[in-house]
Amino acid sequence: MIFLVHKEHLGQRARYVQALRQGLTFYSRRYGPYPYPTVTLVDPAPGATGAGGMEYPTLFTAGTHRFMPAGIRMPEMVTIHEFGHGYWYGIVGSNEFEEAWLDEGINSYSEVKAMAEFYGADRSLLDLGPIRIGDLTYQRAGVIGGGRFDPILRRSWDFVSGGSYSLNVYNKACLMMLTLERHLGEETMGRVMKAYYEEWKFRHPTSEDFIQTAETVSGRDLDWFFDQALRSPDKLDYAVSSISSEPVREAEGVFKGKLVKAEVKSDSKTPAAYRSEVVLARKGEWVFPQDVLVVFANGRKVRETWDGRDRWKRFVYTGPDKLDHVRIDPDGIWLLDVNWANNSLRLEPRPAGARKTAWKIASFFQHLLTLLSL
Ligand SMILES: [Zn+2]
Repeated sequence: MIFLVHKEHLGQRARYVQALRQGLTFYSRRYGPYPYPTVTLVDPAPGATGAGGMEYPTLFTAGTHRFMPAGIRMPEMVTIHEFGHGYWYGIVGSNEFEEAWLDEGINSYSEVKAMAEFYGADRSLLDLGPIRIGDLTYQRAGVIGGGRFDPILRRSWDFVSGGSYSLNVYNKACLMMLTLERHLGEETMGRVMKAYYEEWKFRHPTSEDFIQTAETVSGRDLDWFFDQALRSPDKLDYAVSSISSEPVREAEGVFKGKLVKAEVKSDSKTPAAYRSEVVLARKGEWVFPQDVLVVFANGRKVRETWDGRDRWKRFVYTGPDKLDHVRIDPDGIWLLDVNWANNSLRLEPRPAGARKTAWKIASFFQHLLTLLSL
């Protein structure tokens, strides 16, 4: 490891050394041993951040500031990211102009996982006392706030703007990869990535080649996934639309000429049974299968699955217990879902202001990060 660090940044040297060692460890273990005898980190001079965050085979530029607090892990993130391009674009030589997600998206996915492994998923980017932000949250903030003009897979010069380019090929492609990982399972995804690296190192793969490897290794048809996530600018958004739980009333009225009145049990306030209703909604265009967790007041849990094709789906339950809450995608698989706030509903609402504040901080931090080119 060769470090060319500006004298004003020497106080940050140990951070660079640690991060590069982490990058070497992570990528070598996950994908394949680093194949070159050297790697060189160049630290741009103060005022030259435009030269930072750039990759070349066996050499890359990072970036820091002499007063960069340890809790802002920008130097670590940039170091791991740019080193990672040695693998995704360098060794696996995909076309960064025509299919930029293959290097930026796969590399951002690798970066998120490496940062989480070494610094903790909930604070991998920002760890300043009570303010903690993980790299994954940062990636999601980009996708949630961004427009939907372009799909991930598009020639770089055909995107409507630079912002749409980076939102898609970095953030959304990163979430697509993490979503795929949660869908296939981490072990299978690990084999997909190793196989893709092994097959395409020192060659020039396309998106089709990646999809083919993912399908072959996992043994699953993934066209439905990539046709939407990679090729369509639309959105994924499933929601718990409404829930209710009402006491079951005995039938009243005239039946076969006889007047029937419901018996009023004045001694008990607890009804014998409730009729509970759950309505799920597909608010986006993308169709992804959904799991749903229905939890009743006495703790009883019911899991349902829905193919997610229709615009809505109703589940009805009759039983002695009232509904408590309902959560769609309870395992958090669909990271591409643009609105998590509508993924659950509680019969008795609770205030959720904290979540809003967290997103505000995340988007502020995102603006900060865009100041450094990656
Ligand atoms: Zn990059």
